Amino acid sequence: MIRTILLGPPGAGKGTQAAIIVKNNNIPHISTGDIFRENIKNGTELGKRAQEYMSKGELVPDDLVIEIATTRLLEDDCKNGFILDGFPRTVHQAEELDKFLDEHGQEISVVINLEVPDDVLMKRLTGRRVCPKCGATFHIVGMPPKKEGICDICGAELIQRPDDNEETAGNRIEVYNRETKPLIDYYEKKGKIANIDGAAALEVASAAVAEALGG
Ligand code: AMP
Repeated sequence: MIRTILLGPPGAGKGTQAAIIVKNNNIPHISTGDIFRENIKNGTELGKRAQEYMSKGELVPDDLVIEIATTRLLEDDCKNGFILDGFPRTVHQAEELDKFLDEHGQEISVVINLEVPDDVLMKRLTGRRVCPKCGATFHIVGMPPKKEGICDICGAELIQRPDDNEETAGNRIEVYNRETKPLIDYYEKKGKIANIDGAAALEVASAAVAEALGG
């Protein structure tokens, strides 16, 4: 069974890899960032709270994120595995996740660590365009849609994530290096890390991810 965490800085390709894993395995993709964006779109209280942090590229407080993620993991579709994307992001979140999984007789099978140099990340983030309707991701240079500004999959108009501007993206990379990078060590000590070159061509990286997940 696949219970995996996609770890890596913003722009490492976690969402892209998650979409590929979903296609090949029938397990849900759980992105805490997507959950927050959905709440912002719907104008919920949670969305309002999260937006304060997201707009600055800061992390949403641990307690809030842990509650959201563990509630989601209790849903039926997670019984046969899951892909966590963007959670955990701090050592405290990882410890709480471990506690939760332990209580439910589960454990993470492997942590996919996507490694990408900072200068490549900046280019990826600022050139990223996303579909607000179906969530597909493109890049103005690296993965342009067939028709400029239009989603290949559902035809909606693509947008730039508000936190993909240069200043906020830069802060997100800094926050990753400070708060999230220590998780590599945390999971390495548990013998769970698979390091993947996230700067490689997409087919190469996704083949390496599939192999790490057990072929
Ligand atoms: P992402 O879509 O994963 O890049 O997340 C976008 C933003 O949502 C982040 O920059 C944070 O502000 C917030 N966020 C998502 N997941 C978490 C998390 N596990 N812990 C704290 N903040 C999070």
